[in-house]
Amino acid sequence: VAKPDAIFVADDVVRRFGGLTAVDVDHLEIQRGTITSLIGPNGAGKSTFFNVVSGFDSPDGGTWSFQGSDVSKLPAHRVARRGMVRTFQLTKALTRLTARENLMLGATQQVGERFIPALLRFPWRSQEATIGVRADELLERFNLSHMRDEFAGTMSGGQRKLLEMARALMVEPTMIMLDEPMAGVNPALTQSLLGHIQALRDEGMTIVLVEHDMDVVMGISDWVTTFAQGRLIAEGRPDDIRRDSAVIDAYLGA
Ligand code: ADP
Ligand code: MG
Repeated sequence: VAKPDAIFVADDVVRRFGGLTAVDVDHLEIQRGTITSLIGPNGAGKSTFFNVVSGFDSPDGGTWSFQGSDVSKLPAHRVARRGMVRTFQLTKALTRLTARENLMLGATQQVGERFIPALLRFPWRSQEATIGVRADELLERFNLSHMRDEFAGTMSGGQRKLLEMARALMVEPTMIMLDEPMAGVNPALTQSLLGHIQALRDEGMTIVLVEHDMDVVMGISDWVTTFAQGRLIAEGRPDDIRRDSAVIDAYLGA
């Protein structure tokens, strides 16, 4: 469906694994400034779609643009530099680095710079100082300041999810793609994560959210896009998607 102010537009995106077609999306648009949820049964191709369009995986075909520019040939760090970042379903925190070091390293990794973790403790370059300030702001925002100098390995699963989101935000993205940010997180922290996601949207960021909890999806989304067997089968406002027979069938058939 065409959107009045699409920030992201994808066409004919195909990704196969051997004989399996994991993603086969004819057309998908994301409206700027919204929370758009990507739903669908396990194995529907949601994570694969994220991997492909964020430059972490190569497609068998397709093009996609971000803010009007074709980004479909760019590697992940150059996509990130354009302002489009993603998180992973399984968090990538490095357990032997502190929370703050994870953020600082994340910032440079995302934009493709070499950075030796041991040097993080001696930030003599002005750029590193700037990154440090940003890291501290995000630790504060996500209530992780008390974990600043603790190894990520000592953090709870939920805290690591917050750290993962904070890390994606280090590069001040325009659009953030979150792959199951609430998975395995306790209810209180889920509420907190949802609050953070809404706050980011209210600040003007575009959010694409993969989430399996339908109550969460229906409560937070401006728009819901449904995948099944790699294809986009339905999209619409939450209330319409809730009643959509193709969506109901996809879940019952799974
Ligand atoms: P979702 O995130 O919607 O649960 P995925 O994108 O992870 O689904 O997977 C879509 C399909 O692609 C699944 O059938 C999965 O087994 C398959 N798949 C994903 N990644 C790979 C891979 N690296 N190699 C082979 N098959 C894969
Ligand atoms: Mg997935």
